[in-house]
Amino acid sequence: MRVDVLVVGAGPAGGSLSFLLARAGLNVLMIDSKRFIGKKSCSGILGYKCLEELPVNVDPFVVSEIKTGIFESPGGVKIRFEGRIAKVVDRVPLDREIIDVALSNGAKIRTGCRFVGIENEKAIILGENGYEKISFKYLVGADGVYSKVRDVLGWKIEAPYLGIQVFSNKRISPEEGFIAKIKRGSRFLWIYPWGDRSRVGVLGKRIDPLMEWIREIVPSFTGKEVAAIPSMPLKSFHKGNVALVGDAAGQVKPLSRGGVYLGVKGAKLLASSIIDSYERDLPVIEDSYERMWWRLFGFEIKAGLAFRKVLDRMNPRELDSIFSSLRDYEAKISSFDIDHQLSSALMNVGFLERLKIVLSRPKFFIRLLHALISCYLTYL
Ligand SMILES: Cc1cc2nc3c(=O)[nH]c(=O)nc-3n(C[C@H](O)[C@H](O)[C@H](O)COP(=O)(O)OP(=O)(O)OC[C@H]3O[C@@H](n4cnc5c(N)ncnc54)[C@H](O)[C@@H]3O)c2cc1C
Repeated sequence: MRVDVLVVGAGPAGGSLSFLLARAGLNVLMIDSKRFIGKKSCSGILGYKCLEELPVNVDPFVVSEIKTGIFESPGGVKIRFEGRIAKVVDRVPLDREIIDVALSNGAKIRTGCRFVGIENEKAIILGENGYEKISFKYLVGADGVYSKVRDVLGWKIEAPYLGIQVFSNKRISPEEGFIAKIKRGSRFLWIYPWGDRSRVGVLGKRIDPLMEWIREIVPSFTGKEVAAIPSMPLKSFHKGNVALVGDAAGQVKPLSRGGVYLGVKGAKLLASSIIDSYERDLPVIEDSYERMWWRLFGFEIKAGLAFRKVLDRMNPRELDSIFSSLRDYEAKISSFDIDHQLSSALMNVGFLERLKIVLSRPKFFIRLLHALISCYLTYL
């Protein structure tokens, strides 16, 4: 069998990419090791920019809307936010709808079919009928945090974070909306309305007592889901005729670690690169994908990773004190854009105010500057 593009992984990144490529007339085959499409272990909190990038209308899958919320430091200092923040979307039907739209535009899919490697420039896949070889012009790994395609390229990633989600009957008042509690450094727990129930999620390192943090909030719960979350984007997303997108490329926001927006935007940029390469009959994927992605998200990623690094080295008292300082600017930073978290918060604070914050916390800003330089050097 020969295809123009073999897309490994039918999550939102792989599905959106397949839709765009099939619509442009390319012969696309998606494979997914799961039999049933749809990620259960996701909060589905999607900002409005993300919703615009998705190839489907999410309205039928919206569970609730986030218009208000609270960020809370370990010692209980609260910062409120409000505005059109995000919609909560059920990822299972959403992922299926994205695949359906790709299929109705001509893409093909095989579920229960795993990519295992490459031999003589052909992909080896393992499905119900055993091993099969597939020839491709271009190969894309949209196969999530433990990407096998990335392994084939020989690229290593930083140890991922662990995310756990549960359902609870505990109700949240509408004024609270969404609550994020910082537990250690940049690792946190969140609780938000899910229909007439609530959902609690937690994110941390393997050494963190994640289940203990959940039980402190909801002693009884159901539907526990556990999944890994990439730590940070790779420096490069493609090599020759092979590219990575979404979690496989580590395309997640550095602070909240949400990955749908960055992955779906990545899929859009990658689709343009592949279509252009295909039309020019290039044997490799041209590199505008990578350049454009870094142009769009470079500042957010590098500044966000630097901020995270500094937070991770702070003790609870220092975190409380940072929250107390930020409270003075609550009104300005509260209507931030969750898809461009740092840049939107910074834009709302004027230059003189930024200077005032820096001067009031010189030690913090020296550490931040240090971390920022180190993050920029990492991605040089
Ligand atoms: C607890 C938790 C909460 C989250 N909450 C949010 C949130 O609120 N908002 C947000 O934006 N993000 C959130 N995320 C992150 C988000 O779920 C991911 O960033 C997103 O799903 C990545 O999409 P993707 O298409 O790159 O990969 P995935 O959705 O992981 O899809 C990858 C697909 O590849 C398949 N696959 C893997 N290996 C192979 C193989 N070898 N062969 C064939 N198929 C394979 C898998 O079966 C899977 O279907 C959360 C994550 C967790 C864990």
